[in-house]
Amino acid sequence: MPYIEPAPIDFSEQNPFESMMARFKIAADYLHLAEGHYEFLKRPEKQVIVSIPIQMDNGNIKVFEGYRVIHSTVRGPSKGGIRYTPDVTLDEVKALAAWMTWKCAVVDIPFGGAKGGVICDPQKMTMVELEKMTRRYTANLMDLFGPDRDIPAPDMNTNEQIMGWIMDTYSMKERRTVTGVVTGKPTVLGGSRGRREATGMGCMFVTLRALDKMKIKPDQARVVVQGFGNVGSVSAQMLDGKGCKIIAISDVTGGYFNKKGINIPQALEHTAKVKSLLGFKGAEPIRNEDLLELDCDVLIPAAKEEQITSSNAGRIKAKIITEGANGPTTAKADPILDEKGILVIPDILANAGGVTVSYFEWVQNRMGYYWSLEDVNSRLERVMNESFDVVFDLAQDYKVSLRIGSYILAVKRVSDALKIRGIYG
Ligand code: NAD
Repeated sequence: MPYIEPAPIDFSEQNPFESMMARFKIAADYLHLAEGHYEFLKRPEKQVIVSIPIQMDNGNIKVFEGYRVIHSTVRGPSKGGIRYTPDVTLDEVKALAAWMTWKCAVVDIPFGGAKGGVICDPQKMTMVELEKMTRRYTANLMDLFGPDRDIPAPDMNTNEQIMGWIMDTYSMKERRTVTGVVTGKPTVLGGSRGRREATGMGCMFVTLRALDKMKIKPDQARVVVQGFGNVGSVSAQMLDGKGCKIIAISDVTGGYFNKKGINIPQALEHTAKVKSLLGFKGAEPIRNEDLLELDCDVLIPAAKEEQITSSNAGRIKAKIITEGANGPTTAKADPILDEKGILVIPDILANAGGVTVSYFEWVQNRMGYYWSLEDVNSRLERVMNESFDVVFDLAQDYKVSLRIGSYILAVKRVSDALKIRGIYG
């Protein structure tokens, strides 16, 4: 697919968020976005910094710093996870919030984008301390959160339990149970069936779509998956179930390659027992760097950001890349992959199955009626397939990659809504 590069933009390859903003700029140029609208969408609507004082188990008071950034509510209440990491910064949260705006717009769910974070090291905290910190963070943000305002979800180091505490704190203050204030809850608290598998399943749907476009039958496709956590293992399992041959998988312990195909149920059994792929017998060891460059039809980076860069993009042999992870490819690698004719299904489309089922959770909470797993999965399939098709057609119209096509679609949907709403004031 030819790549037309509009106005050059200076960005670092070290920062996935700058990579994301670089693509936003490219899309804005294609759309001839009015300068004022570009400036509006570049900045978050609201940035809140809160101090979170907690009495620690040893009796001392410790004050944590927390953030919540709402990038956009143009298309609906804002949506985005909360991360608990020692090095989270306001800048990172700002960029991630914008990322959520584009992702929700690509799959056309009626949400804007937000993100939150607290500077802390959850590994060094007790459950009691974590609960107190979560509840105080929520209490401090009571006026921001709400099912019609801003809806958090899990992200790095936050989980179903933490979402349960957020829901409970908000509900106590509202004097009624408000399940829809947060998603990623356990099913006993109104979580959706199918949420755990949603991202990997979404990756599977768009990969099958891409294989079809490339006229490769699933049972002829050789697939390589980097990362064997939630997204990677479910993607591998689902594509294996569709007849694809998974020839390599990996996790932090290294890569595992078997030309004849890896027995995925065995690998899943192994990780369930050992908690990693370490010692997995059904394959030969391979370095993670080499795994990315294997001869295959589909490569699914589903581990972390910045795996495909300008240094290794030229050696990638896959025909399709499905970005299960957020930001696995740097903006500088984009034109190299495009020139090689590799069909890259970008993160904001490929891994949007997770936020889509979060949206389903919110819808079910508001209806008070819970869908069957089949219902959830078939609705997810429709959203992912339709989104892929819209992006694919748009990319062909503009003669751009699926990545730039996705950003054009997202920025157009947000800016169209912005134009109709107008600027208040
Ligand atoms: P996870 O923690 O469950 O799994 C991560 C996996 O990557 C683990 O198997 C880990 O061992 C492996 N890994 C880490 N470093 C590696 C390396 N250098 N080489 C090879 N493997 C390595 O996390 P996850 O939820 O599967 O998320 C993975 C990525 O997908 C992240 O970028 C995340 O932001 C993104 N994502 C996740 C979801 C979701 O619903 N879980 C949704 C959208 C995007």
